[in-house]
Amino acid sequence: MTDVVELNSPPVSLLGMNRRMLADWLVSQGEKPFRAQQLMQWVHQRGVIDYAQMTDLSKVLRAKLASLAPIRLPEVKVDQIADDDTRKWLLEVDGGNAIEMVFIPDKNRGTLCISSQVGCALACTFCMTARQGFNRNLTSDEIVGQVWLAQHLLRLAGWGEKPVTNVVFMGMGEPLLNVNHVFPAADVLMDDWGYGLSKNRVTISTSGVTPAMDMLSERLDVSLAVSLHAANDTLRDVLVPINQKYPLNELMVACRRYLQAYPKRHIMFEYVMLKGINDSTKHAKEVITLLQGLSAKVNLIPFNPFPGTDYQTSAWDVILAFQNRLMASGLQTNVRRTRGEDIDAACGQLAGDVADRTKRSASIRQTTVKFDRHAPRDKR
Ligand code: SAH
Repeated sequence: MTDVVELNSPPVSLLGMNRRMLADWLVSQGEKPFRAQQLMQWVHQRGVIDYAQMTDLSKVLRAKLASLAPIRLPEVKVDQIADDDTRKWLLEVDGGNAIEMVFIPDKNRGTLCISSQVGCALACTFCMTARQGFNRNLTSDEIVGQVWLAQHLLRLAGWGEKPVTNVVFMGMGEPLLNVNHVFPAADVLMDDWGYGLSKNRVTISTSGVTPAMDMLSERLDVSLAVSLHAANDTLRDVLVPINQKYPLNELMVACRRYLQAYPKRHIMFEYVMLKGINDSTKHAKEVITLLQGLSAKVNLIPFNPFPGTDYQTSAWDVILAFQNRLMASGLQTNVRRTRGEDIDAACGQLAGDVADRTKRSASIRQTTVKFDRHAPRDKR
């Protein structure tokens, strides 16, 4: 697995380069490789992207960086804060495409949910992002740019020096269909000179792209979440159509390979609760059988409805009964709390359909919030 980044296509952007790529690029520019650490520290830790301020670099290097490698960030189009402090941004990348990013604060952590693609090709029937189809992969630059931006804005809003403690690739897109950019971006998140997040605090969520799960097992020690949603092929073929290509038996083989590569880990299986579709006793038994003997946890996600969907959320007592059944078999099972409902920030509600985008962005512009409106306040 190689790290593919088009280093020759100017301008270069440093944000998405992992330490090795950055050192290689610096060497290609006649610089010392250790400058990579200094640069990463400035950019990712201190949040400084103006090269003029990087006083431990020579003036010549600073000028060279400014001309060869200007740092580009996604642009904030909408910035919304929910009653429960969940914060959602609509970001524009490359002057046209919109992606969404959500910050979910909790007592002892701040989880940032980021996007890996503009749109999604996977067509999961219960997911709103699927409706807009696939536009393009995000670059590692645009992926890390989301984290840089969130950290910057949250620091300004008084969330402390390290507001983002966890990053989950659960926004728009399928991260394992964009490994050439997602993997180096994850490297930067976990690098001590980057964001310094531990491997337990970076989670890649996949619908089950098994060849890329194998790459991940070989290349990248991060937490893995698998969007299961059904434990029989007939139903999963409908809910998560990529199952037709990589059915459950292959998915389970890839899960076992991951757990062999990282024996201390478990896999988080996500299961959206759809009324009358996948929430019966029979379905719970299928999950138990499928995950038997595996180091697994299950996260039950109440379905978030959106306009135009026929699916409904399972009743609360049905979700709890499902949870109890799984727990009785020894499977650790949580029910995910819905967050940021008043701003549509919950799962599957990220971004509307592309046809609506022009109208949407026109109306959104008026609601754009200036960053400084949120006076610094001590949150934790
Ligand atoms: N493509 C990746 C990551 C993005 S989806 C994946 O499939 O894992 C992140 C999670 O949100 C997935 O588990 C997905 O199935 C779930 N999700 C999508 N739409 C949802 C909805 N309307 N309600 C609840 N969960 C949803």
